[in-house]
Amino acid sequence: MGRVYKVAVITGDGIGPEITEAAIHALGNVGLKLEFTKVAAGLNAWEKYKNQLPQETVDIIKSSDACLKGPTQTPPGPGSFKSATVTLRQLLDLYANVRPFRNHPGVPSIHKGVDMVIVRENTEGMYKGLEYNLGDSALGVRVITRRGSERIAKFAFDLARREKRKRVTAVHKANVLKETCGLFRNVCAEVAKSYPDILFDEMHIDAAAMRIAMKPQDIDVIVTTNLFGDVLSDECAGIVGGLGIAPSANVGDRYAFFEAIHGSAPKHAGKGDANPAAIMFSAAMMLKYLGELDAGARFEVAIDAVLAEGKTVTRDLGGKAGTMDFARAVADELSKK
Ligand code: NAD
Repeated sequence: MGRVYKVAVITGDGIGPEITEAAIHALGNVGLKLEFTKVAAGLNAWEKYKNQLPQETVDIIKSSDACLKGPTQTPPGPGSFKSATVTLRQLLDLYANVRPFRNHPGVPSIHKGVDMVIVRENTEGMYKGLEYNLGDSALGVRVITRRGSERIAKFAFDLARREKRKRVTAVHKANVLKETCGLFRNVCAEVAKSYPDILFDEMHIDAAAMRIAMKPQDIDVIVTTNLFGDVLSDECAGIVGGLGIAPSANVGDRYAFFEAIHGSAPKHAGKGDANPAAIMFSAAMMLKYLGELDAGARFEVAIDAVLAEGKTVTRDLGGKAGTMDFARAVADELSKK
């Protein structure tokens, strides 16, 4: 074992504490020295400190090597606090949200042969937080910048190159949203010229949603704006087996956090039956980000082995196992290697 990695863990709300505990348990057998520090964010932090993202949490994340994040809950509508997740992404300038989707052995899925990545701009767009109450109407401002579009497009092309992928597709609605999506689309096309080895094309968001539902094998890497990427991600999770297995990375130039794409699933909280596979796959992405490529790959293989065997899977995948049963099975699988 080499160096010690400091990992901040946002335990989160709802099923968050259970799935993060499961991930920490399985990571114990991955063969690395990982030092976990649990920190508060989300509804639980709001109830305790009247602050959904306490400064102490931010400080610990900044002084750690990476952060594993459980889902956090945000009450809907006006009058409630801003999402801790969105706040953290903006505060740490984690501009790239990377969401890979593939089939997993043993997991029932609508389509086979899916292997795609959504690269979602993570700090601007409709989630910038510029919303105004005007009495009987409400106004939202969508912010798209050249700088934001350029860096996310470059990130997507670099990812395509690194992962030996063939094509980047810019998804937008520039026929209607002429200024905002128009700028995003044009910048993506400009950036594409510097990557002649990668094919580039574009799709309108509505057509892309249909293509994903009908023929997702056509898609390789999607680069898109914040809200569009958020919505398409859940659709992509749906076609490969559901939210319980879909991971993500939130990455900037200095910091990163890793989380399942699903939320806090409050109805499942405390039942011990939530699927921890998505946060475990996110933890595997974290290990790769830390430079531990072998450990990350071994962790993925172990999770997939338990999914493939099908004996210890959770209710969302048709099984009867609890969250910690799955974690113990993955830990056992890792100790076999
Ligand atoms: P959700 O993803 O929490 O749940 C939707 C449904 O998917 C659940 O009812 C459940 O049936 C299923 N599901 C999700 N994850 C699962 C898992 N690991 N195992 C088994 N089943 C699972 O979405 P929602 O209901 O729209 O949101 C609930 C809360 O989560 C909201 O407060 C929202 O703000 C928050 N949220 C947080 C994040 C985040 O922290 N990044 C992301 C999305 C939603």
